[in-house]
Amino acid sequence: MTRVVSLVSGKGGVGKTTVTSNLGAILNDLGKKTLILDGNLTTPNISLHLGIPLYPITVHDVLRGDAHISEAIYDHPMGFSIVPGSISIDDLDKIDIEKLSEAIEYLTKKADVILVDSPAGLGRESYKSIEISDDVIIVTNPNTPSLVEALKVKELAERLDKNILGVVVNRYVRGTSELTEQEIEETLELPILSRVPEDSTIPKSIDKKTPAVYFKPSSPSSRAFKKLGSDLTGEEFETEGIGVFQRIMNWLRE
Ligand code: ADP
Ligand code: MG
Repeated sequence: MTRVVSLVSGKGGVGKTTVTSNLGAILNDLGKKTLILDGNLTTPNISLHLGIPLYPITVHDVLRGDAHISEAIYDHPMGFSIVPGSISIDDLDKIDIEKLSEAIEYLTKKADVILVDSPAGLGRESYKSIEISDDVIIVTNPNTPSLVEALKVKELAERLDKNILGVVVNRYVRGTSELTEQEIEETLELPILSRVPEDSTIPKSIDKKTPAVYFKPSSPSSRAFKKLGSDLTGEEFETEGIGVFQRIMNWLRE
């Protein structure tokens, strides 16, 4: 059965889109037919992360009633599918967000996993992206402002009776992060699914419009994303990006 998973945070800029694009790429590599839906209608940017910002038909056209959802699905060169948002401000006019429910019903026939890149905040758009999902992953940074917003979005997901898979703590820096994993886990009363380190590969990969897991598979963040994907699917991930020690051991064994 297709799972619709929304990546939410409450606070903006914590890494939802980064996690979505990398997790999407990894799940696809692990053999799941994956589709990424840009659920961030006011400030859509997943297609900027993925390098194809100009699509002729977007989710905005669908929500305006000008196109069928089937016309807004594109194959990304890396194998997964994407339903992009329009980056034009004019396209915000006359969209009916309620049409997302119908759209997602169609999309579930097209993929094993649908990742919904959600907007910040707790407004109507966030509400809708949670409402159309089966599962929710909360993304937070290890600091109080994002944790407070994460707590609110958790409550919203609970009210909508969604299955909260857990938390991705992004931009973690050992020793200097404001909050520990334990503090985050205890406050949210949710398991931490992944701790993604602060990693200069991420801005570089966004600049190159390529998910970090492809841009630099051996980077610390890429390894975290691969582990997250394999934990979620129960599949083994390939050990590309293994540490120096392991590489030397493998070389000695050859
Ligand atoms: P959101 O979708 O929650 O608004 P983004 O995924 O767009 O957040 O990330 C915001 C910015 O944070 C990105 O431009 C990226 O450069 C930076 N960023 C995200 N994750 C990391 C990380 N693990 N290490 C370093 N920079 C990161
Ligand atoms: Mg985003």
